[in-house]
Amino acid sequence: MGKAEVIEAIQNNQRFLLTGHISPDGDSIACQLAMAEALEQLGKEASMQSADPVPAMYRKLPGASRVRRVSEIEGEFDAAILMECPTPERSGFEHIPARTIINIDHHPDNQNHAHVNWVNAKKAATAEMIFTLVEELGCEITGSMAENLFAGILTDTGSFSFSNTTASCLEIAAELVKRGASPAAVAQKVYRSYPPEKLDLIGRMLSQIQRFCDGAAVAMTIGYEEIEKKGYASEIFEDIVNMPLITSTVKVSMLGRQDESGKWRFSMRSKGDIDIGEIARQFGGGGHMNAAGFNYTGEVEQLVKELIESLSGRLDSDAEKASEL
Ligand code: 5GP
Ligand code: MN
Repeated sequence: MGKAEVIEAIQNNQRFLLTGHISPDGDSIACQLAMAEALEQLGKEASMQSADPVPAMYRKLPGASRVRRVSEIEGEFDAAILMECPTPERSGFEHIPARTIINIDHHPDNQNHAHVNWVNAKKAATAEMIFTLVEELGCEITGSMAENLFAGILTDTGSFSFSNTTASCLEIAAELVKRGASPAAVAQKVYRSYPPEKLDLIGRMLSQIQRFCDGAAVAMTIGYEEIEKKGYASEIFEDIVNMPLITSTVKVSMLGRQDESGKWRFSMRSKGDIDIGEIARQFGGGGHMNAAGFNYTGEVEQLVKELIESLSGRLDSDAEKASEL
C-alpha cells in the first residue's frame, strides 16, 4: 500500500480530521497545515486537532492558529489523516472518530497501523511526502503551503545538516522556494523568535551538563520544581539537546526534563552511525538513528546510568568512525 491508496481514500471522502504527534515538531505541524489547504482546494473539509499546543516557534507559520488543541477529538469524520505517528498512541488520542484512518509517515518504526498506510523511511521529512502527494492530487502549491512544507523539511533535517539530507529533499526544498517559500523568513520565524528566558535556560542546562565515556556522551536534566520556579515553558527546550554536539568530543547528547506529573521526557541526539533510535525503543520510545526520544517514570539518576550502560558499547565500537566526524 502507498501513495495511490492514499489518493483514492482522499478522493472518496469529504470530511477530514488531520493530526500529528504529541509535542509536535515542525514537520508534524507543517504537514497538517499544507494538507488542510490541499483538501480545501479539492472542495473538502479539514479540521486540524492536536493533543498538545502548537509550540511558539511554529505559531507564526501560515494557518497555525487553525490547529486546535483538544484533549479528545471533537466531531465525526469520514477519514482521519495521521501524519508523523509511528503508532496511533503517538497522536495522543485514544479514539479517532473516523471510518477510514490514513497513516502517512517517515519514521522507520512505523507499525502500518491504519486502514491505509504510506510509510517511507527514506524521506527526511513527512513534508517531502506531502509535497509529492499534493502535486499528484492536482492541487496548486500556494505560497503558504510552500512555506509550511519548507519549514517541515528545514526542521527535520537540522537546517539541511543531518545525514537524512538527500539530493531529493534539497530538490523539493528548491522547488518550494520557487513556489514562494523564503528560507530567511522561515528561519527567522522558527529559529530566531524565542522569548528572552531561552538564554537563561540555555545557560542553566549547559552549566550543569554531566559528562560520561570520556566526554563522548552528555546528559542534561532538570526537575519540574525548578522548571516551575523559573517559569520555563516546555517549548523553549527545543533544540538545546543539539548544542553539545557542536564539540568534536560529544557523540551523544541527552536532555531530560520532568513534567508536572513527575514523568521524565527524554530527547536524544547522536552523530554518525550511533543508533539512538534503537536505544529509545529499549526505553519504550522511538525515533530515527540520530534523533529519538522516550518517556520515563522513576529516578532520573538511575535512568541516566542505564542509558550510559546501553550506550557505552556502541560508543566504543563506533569510536573510530565517530572520531572522524
Ligand atoms: P524530539 O527529541 O525532538 O522530541 O524527538 C526526536 C525524534 O524522536 C522525533 O522524530 C520524534 O518523533 C521521535 N520521538 C521522540 N519521542 C518519541 C517517543 O516517545 N516515541 C516514538 N515512537 N518516537 C519518539
Ligand atoms: Mn518528521
